[in-house]
Amino acid sequence: MKEEFLYYLWENRLLRGSLQTTTNQPIRIINPGYRNLNSGPDYLKAWVEIGGQLWAGHVEIHVSTSDWNRHGHQHDKAYANVVLHVVYEDDTKVNDIPVLELKGHFDASLYCRYEKFMMSQHWIACERQLRQVQPFTKNTWLERMAVERLEQKAEAASRILISNKFDWESTFYQLMLRYFGMKVNSEAFETLATLLPLKPLLKHADNLTQLEAMLLGCAGFLDMESDEEYPLLLKREFAVLRSKFNLLTMPVERWRLLRMRPVNFPTIRLAQLAQMIHQNGCLFSKFKEAKSIADAKLLFDVEASSYWDTHYRFNVEGPFKPKHIGEGSADVLMINAVIPLLFCYGQFHKDPSYCEKALRFLEEISAEDNTVIRHFTAIGMNANNAMQSQALLHLYNQYCRRKRCLECSIGNALLQSI
Ligand code: SF4
Repeated sequence: MKEEFLYYLWENRLLRGSLQTTTNQPIRIINPGYRNLNSGPDYLKAWVEIGGQLWAGHVEIHVSTSDWNRHGHQHDKAYANVVLHVVYEDDTKVNDIPVLELKGHFDASLYCRYEKFMMSQHWIACERQLRQVQPFTKNTWLERMAVERLEQKAEAASRILISNKFDWESTFYQLMLRYFGMKVNSEAFETLATLLPLKPLLKHADNLTQLEAMLLGCAGFLDMESDEEYPLLLKREFAVLRSKFNLLTMPVERWRLLRMRPVNFPTIRLAQLAQMIHQNGCLFSKFKEAKSIADAKLLFDVEASSYWDTHYRFNVEGPFKPKHIGEGSADVLMINAVIPLLFCYGQFHKDPSYCEKALRFLEEISAEDNTVIRHFTAIGMNANNAMQSQALLHLYNQYCRRKRCLECSIGNALLQSI
C-alpha cells in the first residue's frame, strides 16, 4: 500500500461503509482539511466528528499505526494538534489519538487500477486508455496545465525581475537572449546578457553599427583578423565603446556552430537582435501595448543589416539572402519570453487584463512540434495551438513522468471509471 493512495482516498472522500475508530467510536468526516506539503501533519484544519463530538485539527496518514513512532512524531510538537490518525492497517497502539483503519473501506479494484498505472512501462501510464476520456475532461485539464506552466514561467521571470531591481526592460532583454540562440547556444546568450547589460545598448539604440559592434564584440566575434571593411569598422567602434562602458568580451569558443543551420548562427541572431533594439528601443513596453498577436509579432519582423545579406559569419561571403527572424523563432520568443513576462506583469500589477492577453496570445500561436507533442497526437491527444502544446509539455514533464496520476484529472477519470 502506498501512502499517496491513502491521501487520495482521504481527500476525495472515497471511503465506503460506516467509519469508526479502532475503539468503535463512529466517525463522520465533515471536512478532510487541506494537504500540507511542508513539514508537519499531512492534512491541516480538518473537521471530524468522533463519537458525536466535533473536532477541528490536523490529520496524519500512514500505512501502519507504528509509522507514527518510526517517523519520530512522538517527539515532534507539530503533531500535538492531530485529532485523527488515519492508517491502512492498525498494527499496534502508539498513543491515545483516535485511529481510523481504512482496510476494507475502499474499492479494492481502484487500488488495482492505480497499481497498474504505477507499474506501467508505456510512454505514459494511461497511454492505452487515454482515448476513453471525455474531451471535456481532457480540455479542462489542459487549460489548467497551461495556466500552471505559465505561472511557473512567470515565477522564474519574477526572480530575474527582482535581481534586476524591478527593471522590466532589462528582465525582458535577459529572457529574450536566453531563447534567442536555440537550445545549443542558450548558455552563451545568457552569459552575453550578463556581460553586456541593456543600458549601454539603449544609449546607442539610434546607431545600428554601434549596437552590432557591442553585441558581436562582447560575444567575442570581433577578436579576429579581417580585410573586409565592415568587420574592421565594427572593431573600431567596439574599441571605443568597450573602454566607454568597461565592457568585457567572451571567449568566442563558447559559441557552438556545429550541426546548426547557418540561419541560426549566433552572428546572425546577434545582428537581428541589434536591429530589433535599433527599431524598437524599449521592447517590452511595446509588447505590453500590442493589441493583437499580429501587432506583437510585427516587433520581431526585422532583418539583419546589409552585410549579413551575403554572410553568415565574418570573412566568409555567400549568396545573397536577407536574414529575417523566421516565424518559428518569433513563436519561440513569444512563448518563452514575451508571454511569461506579460503574465508576470499582470500578476505583479494586479491587472488581470495582461494575464488574459498573455493567455489569448498563447492561444493564437500555432502548436509546437516536438517529440512529446507528436507522441501525444499518436495516442489521441492533439494540440491545436501553443496553449495546448505548452499544456501537454507541462503535463508530460510535471505529471506523467513523475507518475502523478492521482493528482491528474485524466487519471482520476480513468481510475474512478467502472
Ligand atoms: S499523469 Fe495523467 S495523463 Fe499522465 S499518465 Fe498519469 S493519468 Fe495519464
